[in-house]
Amino acid sequence: MSQYTPMIQQYLRVKANYQDAFLFFRLGDFYEMFFDDALKASQELEITLTSREGGTEERIPMCGVPYHAAAGYIEVLIQKGYKVAICEQTEDPKQAKGVVRREVVQLITPGTVMEGKGLLEKENNYISSFTMFDEVTFGIAYTDLSTGESKATILTGTHEVLLNELSTIGMKEVVVDSNLDSELKKKITDRMNVIISIEENIENDNEFNNIITRLSNEKLKTTAFRLLHYLKKTQKRSLDHLQAFSEYEINQYMKLDYYSKRNLELTESIRGKGSKGTLLWLLDETVTAMGGRMLKQWIDRPLINETQIVRRLDLVETTLHHYFERQELRELLKGVYDLERLSGRVAFGNANARDFIQLKKSLMQIPAIVSLVKQLNQSEAQRLVDQLDPCEDLTELLEKSIIDHPPLTIKEGGIIKDGFHKELDTYKDASRNGKQWIAELEKEEKQKTGIKSLKVGYNRVFGYYIEVTRANVHLLEEGRYERKQTLANAERFITPELKEKEALILLAEEKCIDLEYALFMEIRETVKTYIPRIQQAAKIISELDVYQSFATVSETRHYVKPIFNNKRQIHITNGRHPVVEKVMGSQEYVPNDCLMDSEREMLLITGPNMSGKSTFMRQIALTAIMAQIGCFVPAEKADIPIFDQVFTRIGAADDLISGQSTFMVEMLEAKNAIANATKNSLILFDEIGRGTSTYDGMALAQAIIEYIHDRIGAKTLFSTHYHELTVLEEMLVQLKNIHVSAVEQQGKLVFLHKVKPGPADKSYGIHVAELANLPKELIARATEILRELENEQSRDTKNVDNREHVNEQLALFAEPTKSKYSDHERKILDELRQLNIMDMNPMQAMNSLYEIQKKLK
Ligand code: ADP
Ligand code: MG
Repeated sequence: MSQYTPMIQQYLRVKANYQDAFLFFRLGDFYEMFFDDALKASQELEITLTSREGGTEERIPMCGVPYHAAAGYIEVLIQKGYKVAICEQTEDPKQAKGVVRREVVQLITPGTVMEGKGLLEKENNYISSFTMFDEVTFGIAYTDLSTGESKATILTGTHEVLLNELSTIGMKEVVVDSNLDSELKKKITDRMNVIISIEENIENDNEFNNIITRLSNEKLKTTAFRLLHYLKKTQKRSLDHLQAFSEYEINQYMKLDYYSKRNLELTESIRGKGSKGTLLWLLDETVTAMGGRMLKQWIDRPLINETQIVRRLDLVETTLHHYFERQELRELLKGVYDLERLSGRVAFGNANARDFIQLKKSLMQIPAIVSLVKQLNQSEAQRLVDQLDPCEDLTELLEKSIIDHPPLTIKEGGIIKDGFHKELDTYKDASRNGKQWIAELEKEEKQKTGIKSLKVGYNRVFGYYIEVTRANVHLLEEGRYERKQTLANAERFITPELKEKEALILLAEEKCIDLEYALFMEIRETVKTYIPRIQQAAKIISELDVYQSFATVSETRHYVKPIFNNKRQIHITNGRHPVVEKVMGSQEYVPNDCLMDSEREMLLITGPNMSGKSTFMRQIALTAIMAQIGCFVPAEKADIPIFDQVFTRIGAADDLISGQSTFMVEMLEAKNAIANATKNSLILFDEIGRGTSTYDGMALAQAIIEYIHDRIGAKTLFSTHYHELTVLEEMLVQLKNIHVSAVEQQGKLVFLHKVKPGPADKSYGIHVAELANLPKELIARATEILRELENEQSRDTKNVDNREHVNEQLALFAEPTKSKYSDHERKILDELRQLNIMDMNPMQAMNSLYEIQKKLK
């Protein structure tokens, strides 16, 4: 260490505390980076790598960015997932003895950016912490520093439950303690695009009292403390605007695991990260950034409480039925800026006067919004806007104080309106009068000297001066003018009067600037006290925005208000897949009914490739989810239950995109569904078992179907290309076959996309080959082989008795089962199945058995 120069030593001391960040080390007008930071930054930022003397023989690698352009470079690094520590000079270099004192004033990380491109308008920027209390108990706390929203929860379950919740929240950064299990760490970074930061401190700190008052237990609090300590350490400033943490429980919402969300493309499309083609993309007609963020949150967490769902639906319905009011509401909302992030900036101390103008304009929309919504004449809507506070005294203050088009900077004056502050007005007058006086002086001097081209100018070095061209200098009166500067063609002079006035003007201007700055800070403090009220208003406005968005989409796309039953019945008439329908544009989407009830708990869907099996299944899930977030649904009529969970599993072969399309993953996902689903869940299994050999796959598919049928009873849609599975209908009372039809028209296979009862025609494979004009002999041979195979199968399966022997007979059983019962026998089997043995005495049981045997004989 001692071999380095004092400045490099200082650098190394600071850097030691910020190992995982780029250290932007302020040197005059530059932020410099040294050593490894310099090597890496020069690549990432594409800036020139240089070097400097540092006391050692070898020169030290160095690169730097000018401080006034630093924001852009920082943004690039943050977006690449790095952290940046800003180290400033904290004393005046002129006063410094030895090396200027320097300190890190802020650590910017992906989870704590407050401005710039890293912050998407319609997306929250969450940072979270979690604590593992034991193998199955986790605390999660998260916050969006830019909006102040803060939440916390306790989870019990496996790592998967934790990962699921973390990915539902969708954060950029997660704060943990250094002992975190490395396997879990890896799972997190594999699943999500996050950076992991360390914070050990989970002690109470009085500063946090207000933020954690609503948390009910120590576990939640310590989890929140970890996050708050990290924020305090990195941001080094007030966390005042953080809203008090509110507690939630994941079982207040529909459970949707990570895979299901992805498969259904709720907020992220499978191809590419963008939102195009997602449910979010479809439903987003919000006009405010806040509304956009709330919509995403709602889609991420569908409700399960009927009262809450119906409340939303009713509000959407009212908004939908008032066309003109809705258009007006949209217009008013367009005038509302991002109140949440504005208050974040105020609290954070980086709000400028333009932010105040936006704040004022936004708040001024509120009275009109309130009176408009009241006209809707709906009690819930009324209640909602009754809490909408226009903060009139604040708008009044801002209206009186801040000029309409202020500059971005707050340090050069020009912000405060005339008439707001007496003392300021006097200085402003002085400075304006002074300028007037200068103008008059110029006129006088022109007359006195007769020099038409004489002018009074100003520069930073000499202040005010009189400029006369060289040719005219001889016209000036001797002794009165003092020469200050000689230019190529002109001379510059000052006079005592000029200097006297100048002093007054400059003094007044300086006072103006200082005073304006002080006043601005004072106003900012006042605005701070309004933050909770502004945040509350923001929430209500966001909600209104989402309702109008749902109403707008529901109207243009002809969606219908769903009704709910608690008979576990799905009754959808002419349902559509909302996204496919939208993407198809003018092409006709073929609507389909879906009927499921206690006699039709499971639907087995067959049909050729591309016929629309996956689309049909997904449209049911999307309909359920849309209904439970409070939106109308793409159907003519939808009478559905409220689902506690939705699972979707996609056969490995279909899941081309994920890159990890192994059969194992598929089975793990299936396991997750089977382990967690209840009678009130919805399961979509799309060609499961595809990723392995035919018999294997088919055996598994059948076993899964039977298991769900017998043990779970969840509403299940199961698509398969194993035609052989369609015989299951005969064995499983609550399973029904349906198929998506295709027909041949003029030698072409035409997909009708129409869902019909019964299994699909089985030889469509060969049929498609025929249509593709494969040689006639080849087709004939294929038909022959098929027939042979079928005969073999029916011979083999004679021995397959019943499915209770699944385990012993897996190999045999895996082969296609053929129906071995006549209609008559099947009726009797049904009868047998329905017998309620527990309610019989031995004699009754004997009698029933006798009856059945007689029928069979
Ligand atoms: P499968 O799963 O049977 O192979 P998909 O569900 O993937 O078939 O559907 C294939 C394509 O058919 C979809 O991309 C869509 O363009 C079209 N499609 C599906 N269902 C319909 C429908 N009901 N109306 C119109 N087009 C449809
Ligand atoms: Mg498919």
